[in-house]
Amino acid sequence: MYSVRLWSVRHARGLEKFYSAFEKAFVALHPVWNWIGYERVEKPIAALEKVTKGFLFDCKMCGQCALSSTGMSCSMNCPKNIRNGPCGGVRANGHCEVKPEMRCVWVEGFAGSERMVEGKKAIRIVQLPVDRRLEGRSSWLKVARDKNPPPPKPASPVAAAPSATSSTPKAP
Ligand code: SF4
Repeated sequence: MYSVRLWSVRHARGLEKFYSAFEKAFVALHPVWNWIGYERVEKPIAALEKVTKGFLFDCKMCGQCALSSTGMSCSMNCPKNIRNGPCGGVRANGHCEVKPEMRCVWVEGFAGSERMVEGKKAIRIVQLPVDRRLEGRSSWLKVARDKNPPPPKPASPVAAAPSATSSTPKAP
């Protein structure tokens, strides 16, 4: 809802605090997600994320949330889906050139970032382009997964041992 989206930007500082605590708790639950199976929890968690973030931010479920780097203004609401904005078409009144009735999400984003602690710096970091393969997936689970990478596989003793018939030329 547009008015709630604007409210979220106005309360970016509080939401930043809440999200940082929420993320810590969600990531700490990694053993639970792993035990149940990330793919099994994907559907219900994505549905929950869609409802809550849809209400607060007009979330489009891009699957790679950047809210903490965009002043709590979802950049997927930009008609051009720009991850590093604003573009050159912002109107003099701060509205979007494509949707004149809407405030530019990046004008909102910079205003929101000014209210944040980490967000102030984060909005200046260049974001990767949107990866469309992640659309519809839970970005909460992605963060939990990314922050708990599987341990590297131990090298196989056979592969590690030098081969007796090795054809590698020896140094003279
Ligand atoms: S950046 Fe992506 S996941 Fe985050 S609110 Fe926007 S569409 Fe949703």
